[in-house]
Amino acid sequence: MYSCSNCNSDVSSDQTHCTKCGAKLIWKGAETNDSTKDAKRQLVGITIITILGILIYGAIWIASVADSIMFGEIGYFFAYTLLFGGILAIHIMGLIGLVKRKRYAVVLSRIVLVLSGGLIWLIMLWPRLSNPIVHAYLNYKPEKYPKGVIDID
Ligand SMILES: [Zn+2]
Repeated sequence: MYSCSNCNSDVSSDQTHCTKCGAKLIWKGAETNDSTKDAKRQLVGITIITILGILIYGAIWIASVADSIMFGEIGYFFAYTLLFGGILAIHIMGLIGLVKRKRYAVVLSRIVLVLSGGLIWLIMLWPRLSNPIVHAYLNYKPEKYPKGVIDID
C-alpha cells in the first residue's frame, strides 16, 4: 500500500525504517486518504474498548452509588463518585480525543487499555498507539513527522 520514496520497495505503516534500503520512513500521516483510513482501522479496537469501558465503569459507578445511598453511607458515595467518576471521565475524554483527533487521545487511550484489565488486548492494541501513522493522524508529536518527506500512494 505504501512505498519507500528512496528505493520504491513496499513498506507497511508500522515500519520506522525501510527494510530494503534502511532509509528512515517519515509519514505524511493524515494528509492522504489512505493513511487516514489506515489510522482509523488501527484505532477500531481501541475505540471499542473505550466505549465498553464507558458502559462497564458507568454501570459500576451507578450500582456503587445506588448501593451507598441505600445504606446511607455518604462517605462511600463520594469515594465511589470520585473514583469511578474519574475513570469515566478519562474514558469519555479519550473517546472525544479519538473522534476529534486530539493528541491527548494517545495518552488517555493507553490509560484506558490499562484500566480495561485485559492483558491480551493490552498487548495487542498498545503498539497501535505507537504507530507513526496513528501519531500523525492524532496530531501527536507532529514535529517528528514533517509533511511531504515520503510519498504515500
Ligand atoms: Zn527503501
